[in-house]
Amino acid sequence: MEKNELKKSFVRIIIAVVLVLLPALVHNIASAAWISSSFKPVSRYASRALSTLSGLFPFSLAEILLYLLILGTLFYIIFTIVTVIRRKKPAVQLLSCVSRIALTACCLVFVFNMLWGLNYFSLSLAEELNMDVGRYSVEALSLTTASFVEELNAIAGEVPRDHNGVSSYGDFKELSAKAADGWDNLVRSSGAFRNVRVSRPKPLTPMAGEFMSRTGITGIYIPFTGEANINAGVPDSSIPFTMMHELAHSAGVAPENEANFAAFLACRESPHPEFRYSGYLSAFIYSYNALYKEDAEVARELLNRLDERVLADIRYRSEYWKKYEGELQNVGTKVNNTYLMAMRQTSGVKSYGMVVDLLIADYVARNGNPDVDIEPVY
Ligand SMILES: [Zn+2]
Repeated sequence: MEKNELKKSFVRIIIAVVLVLLPALVHNIASAAWISSSFKPVSRYASRALSTLSGLFPFSLAEILLYLLILGTLFYIIFTIVTVIRRKKPAVQLLSCVSRIALTACCLVFVFNMLWGLNYFSLSLAEELNMDVGRYSVEALSLTTASFVEELNAIAGEVPRDHNGVSSYGDFKELSAKAADGWDNLVRSSGAFRNVRVSRPKPLTPMAGEFMSRTGITGIYIPFTGEANINAGVPDSSIPFTMMHELAHSAGVAPENEANFAAFLACRESPHPEFRYSGYLSAFIYSYNALYKEDAEVARELLNRLDERVLADIRYRSEYWKKYEGELQNVGTKVNNTYLMAMRQTSGVKSYGMVVDLLIADYVARNGNPDVDIEPVY
């Protein structure tokens, strides 16, 4: 009996290792072009099907399933330990328990990769959009940032605000119902997003949102349920952009910088001012931070050009996040960093800032490249 259980545990561990190695084997054999043309469309269909099912629940199904998984695992571990002590069952029972948990965890990793994770190894979004992302001068960065200042100032008066002049977009459900409109327009205007039909983002419970704020996270896409889960407790001005970011993940855009760029494009295409404003505000903040490192004076000059209402939103955002600065946020960043490294996003959390390269490339494609002399002077 003991020998039999030992054998079973061994087999479980072998299957667990194979389940983890299989997707790694697939992405080493398959080309990025194949993942883009064959895996991504299937991943998009799977996301749509799963989000249709989870959409039957008004709450985040992923959050509830996570709690059940944690509780179930804890119960199983305690039950096994008690059984071993009380009935003096052999320690092989403990090995059996560990092998079952390992197999379940590896099954989840396998399903995660086969549903969505392989998207990390597809062609880049820049390649799919035929964008020429190069190295740009500080002037190109400054012109890109200035373009966001203009857009923000033009739209600042159109978004709803509270008595303090800070963005206040009302009911989450009503806001989330508007998210798909920007994506539908983007899908119509770009072949890179064909077959994409996004679902309605869902709010996490305030308890989970509070925990996520402490770890510095504003949203999370869960491929198992196809749900874009949003931390609804953060300042309203960032919520529409976060919705579009998580929906970009649901559309198979895996890397963070690319999801940020796709979110910006979807926000820009939105007929709703809250979404356009939130997209331009995030784009401004990313570009401004990059510009500040290169030329603080020019960056400050651009910041001073912002409408007072936009500045009120930026101040509110920085005050909000200041409350959560500390150890846990560092832990959250480290965990996220480890996850991104595991998915071969080798620059870790730094890849968030790389959206600036894409934003400049987009600006240059629309307005011309200031780094190129168009008319050579002889
Ligand atoms: Zn993300």
